[in-house]
Amino acid sequence: MKIKKERRLKNIPTRASEKYRNFPMVPRVVYGIGSFDQLGTILMPKRKHSEAPVIYLVDDVFEGTDLVARIPKIFCDQIVFISAGEEPKTEQVDALVEMIKDNFQELPSGIVGIGGGTLLDLAKALAIMMTNKGSAAEYQGWDLVQKKSIYHVGIPTISGTGAEVSRTTVLMGPDKKLGINSDYTTFDQVILDPDLTNGVPKQQWFFTGMDCYIHCIESLNGTFLNAFSQSYGEKSLELCKEVFLKDLPVLESREKLMMASWHGGMSIAYSQVGVAHALSYGLGYLLGVKHGIGNCMVFQHLEEFYPEGVSLFNEMVKKHEIEIPTGICKDLSESEFDKMISVALNMEPLWENALGRQWKSIITPEKLKSIYKKI
Ligand code: NAD
Ligand code: ZN
Repeated sequence: MKIKKERRLKNIPTRASEKYRNFPMVPRVVYGIGSFDQLGTILMPKRKHSEAPVIYLVDDVFEGTDLVARIPKIFCDQIVFISAGEEPKTEQVDALVEMIKDNFQELPSGIVGIGGGTLLDLAKALAIMMTNKGSAAEYQGWDLVQKKSIYHVGIPTISGTGAEVSRTTVLMGPDKKLGINSDYTTFDQVILDPDLTNGVPKQQWFFTGMDCYIHCIESLNGTFLNAFSQSYGEKSLELCKEVFLKDLPVLESREKLMMASWHGGMSIAYSQVGVAHALSYGLGYLLGVKHGIGNCMVFQHLEEFYPEGVSLFNEMVKKHEIEIPTGICKDLSESEFDKMISVALNMEPLWENALGRQWKSIITPEKLKSIYKKI
């Protein structure tokens, strides 16, 4: 589509005095098999004193496993197991803040999130809400956070979302599904240990991995693209192709997908996602469809926007014998369609990235409804 090229390789102007975004990166990262065991040493200098705990938010899939036994829990540190069965909610973050304030006199020394995007996002949001007043819902949007978050560490156990590197934490709020996008959201430390993704069920591996693939396609085909995003996006796409289209040894595949996720996240940091994500947000908000699978449900129907990306995606689905659920929108009422469409249309930066400034002339509620009806 010609329209997509109009702002290619330019940057995203914000204010006249601030032509280029000055965005934060994760300042410290450890990578390698077994690097999880360095967590205790990493946390030690961050401990304020014995009454200021480290709070570990851990995916409950690990309850009772060796991984939990390896968590460096000392003093009054607390491990909180959380299910990743549903996407993280603002009210869940608020309840965690309250629990911590009730249980401890002191602000925690740090928050550590161990799990997939769900746990990583909860950890980021909790770190922000330990120092910012009110409900997490008040900060959903762009640059609404006033105060620096407390020290927080992200340890992914499944690869794809790029949540380990992004400056957002995507939350379901009372009236919207939207990220807390801020300079204080980004982790202070990330530990990338490819061994931790051992044991991810195949379908989930695929859906979360495809989140990364779709980040690359949407970033590389977007109007916000610049050389910075492109360099990360191309590397990530190359790694995704190796992981999902070749037959790599298992460990190499895990290592490469972990780095694909990182690069995919870096690519969208300086650009944006696009059509699949906007529509997937609608599915997530109305039907609770999780991010990775929702993206796949939508992406297969987006040939007109991403022809090459969709054709490669179909190849990957076939190779790995993945079943993408169908018919989930077939019984929806008109008002339910309207709600999903309104959530999707609200994601203006995504549409502008995908289709340019004139996106409203291309994307109408009827158009979105016709895509949702196929799902
Ligand atoms: P997830 O955290 O929702 O987990 C998916 C499933 O995998 C869960 O059942 C979980 O228990 C299981 N799992 C995780 N690690 C495992 C392991 N090692 N072994 C066995 N099972 C394991 O998955 P996700 O796809 O990484 O995250 C989705 C979330 O990420 C959504 O809430 C989405 O909004 C968010 N997200 C955030 C960003 C961001 O930049 N902040 C970007 C994309 C998506
Ligand atoms: Zn995504």
